[in-house]
Amino acid sequence: MNDKVKHVLGLSGGKDSSALALYMKETRPGLEIEYFFTDTGYELPETNDFIDKLEAKLGYIHRLNSRSLSGIEGRGEVEFSSFLKKNGNYLPSQRDRWCTVELKLKPFEKWVDGFIAQGYSIKNYVGIRADEPHRTGFMTIEKPIETVMPFRDDGIVKSDIINILRRNGLDLPEYYKWRSRSGCSFCFYQQKIEWIKLMEHHPDLFEQAKKFEKGDASNSTVGERFYWMGKGEPLETLEDPERRAQIIENHQKKIERFNKKKRRNALHDPNIIACTMTELDEVYDLAEGGGACITCYK
Ligand code: SF4
Repeated sequence: MNDKVKHVLGLSGGKDSSALALYMKETRPGLEIEYFFTDTGYELPETNDFIDKLEAKLGYIHRLNSRSLSGIEGRGEVEFSSFLKKNGNYLPSQRDRWCTVELKLKPFEKWVDGFIAQGYSIKNYVGIRADEPHRTGFMTIEKPIETVMPFRDDGIVKSDIINILRRNGLDLPEYYKWRSRSGCSFCFYQQKIEWIKLMEHHPDLFEQAKKFEKGDASNSTVGERFYWMGKGEPLETLEDPERRAQIIENHQKKIERFNKKKRRNALHDPNIIACTMTELDEVYDLAEGGGACITCYK
């Protein structure tokens, strides 16, 4: 039996993986864990700031990225254009999530390959909680890696997460004030209200996402063009104040409906203020994560 085990824990900049790392330090202090953050190059500044804060608590965090693999000089637009070209000039989407493969899974694979080559087996700790349904959409790679879910094993649920962060001197990352998850600034899993917030908080990143849309090869002769928000709705449409007002109004209605339901079911959790962005998936009647892979948002 192989007794060389490398324990690894991926931080996405999201609340669950962050809380898991802190929880492991509290509950399994003797376990040597290698922390990693896969920096796609399109992260929100708030995410990078939070990773720095975590590093101060946890110790060194490996920053993995796709640049060393792609051989592409430069970041941001140059790199994205290259990936776009490699993937038929189609934007990544829920149906073809090449972004996760290129920007997250391949750098991770390369990193763990180094350990595997040294004879290690890998235990990968993930922040799936005990109150989550069995998860699909978990993109994996063909490697001898065992997935471990300590929160599920220990009965840790959503309301415990904020407590773990707070007792370790942290709070939710800043972006939760206006967005429901970490990940790329242009992530197509975000709701329209989040795109509006991106435009308000990071107009430069919104402009970059608009630019990327223009590189998509969908052709109007074979149907409506594809954009980040779906077919036929480019980000430019959010520049129209009327359209924005409509989206904000619809969002408010959904929140009111959600809060009413919460009150009715007496689900109010004193640790989470009525309807925060951490509940956005529920507000939109989606399973937690909205279909995104845990690599991207946990
Ligand atoms: S965060 Fe979104 S855009 Fe980025 S890799 Fe994940 S699914 Fe793709």
